[in-house]
Amino acid sequence: MTTIGEGLQAVRARIVRAAQAAQRDPEAVRLLAVSKTQPAERVLEAWRLGQRAFGENYVQEAIDKMDRLTLLTGNGPASDAIEWHLIGPLQSNKTRQAAERFAWIHTVDREKIARRLSEQRPAGLPPLNILLQVNISGEATKAGVAPDEAPALAHALATLPGLRLRGLMAIPEPTPDTTTQRARFAAVRILFETIAASGLALDTLSMGMSADLDSAVAEGSTLVRIGTAIFGERNQTQSDPGGLQ
Ligand SMILES: *Cc1c(COP(=O)(O)O)cnc(C)c1O
Repeated sequence: MTTIGEGLQAVRARIVRAAQAAQRDPEAVRLLAVSKTQPAERVLEAWRLGQRAFGENYVQEAIDKMDRLTLLTGNGPASDAIEWHLIGPLQSNKTRQAAERFAWIHTVDREKIARRLSEQRPAGLPPLNILLQVNISGEATKAGVAPDEAPALAHALATLPGLRLRGLMAIPEPTPDTTTQRARFAAVRILFETIAASGLALDTLSMGMSADLDSAVAEGSTLVRIGTAIFGERNQTQSDPGGLQ
């Protein structure tokens, strides 16, 4: 079994290789460690190895870990702080907790949810970073706005005072075929560039998981969301994007 340290190192090396192959700066790709189903101890272990950004799928599971970990990680400089990202679907009855506790939400795909998040973001905190989730493969069961509706929704979200729209997020359908992977990610990047060119200051493209991070980086990802390749196989499958979303 590989350790978390080995997993982190291998993933960072993969990011560097993929970025260099695409003649991109590896520093332009951030690593989000997806810690869903992992106990707080394993998040702490990754944190001790320098990892700072963590992604969770369920609000309550995340808050339990936040409460345990702020005691252990919260006493140092700001650069030591954990940056928590919500990457799972968000129901409207969970928006208040999400707005209060997370730094980023990747799964905004409706104006109603965005309005609630904006209203519920505490005044003392900086605006909540959000990503607009796009259903790039057109799967009927997947979350995300249809690509042709994304520009108008992005402009609507960008006006909400409690939020800062940073870019797009996508989960293409899983496939081992790298040509298809790259075509899907390229479509997300083109949509991102189109929306940015229409006057929104976007800087974040959240795409790429353990199985397809290389294709995602080749197509311009700036934030890869990696669980299995860092922490090993999860023993629950219910939080997998193919499942509940
Ligand atoms: C679980 C999950 C990931 C990480 O998946 P791995 O295959 O374990 O890297 C990334 N993004 C989302 C939205 C997820 O739910």
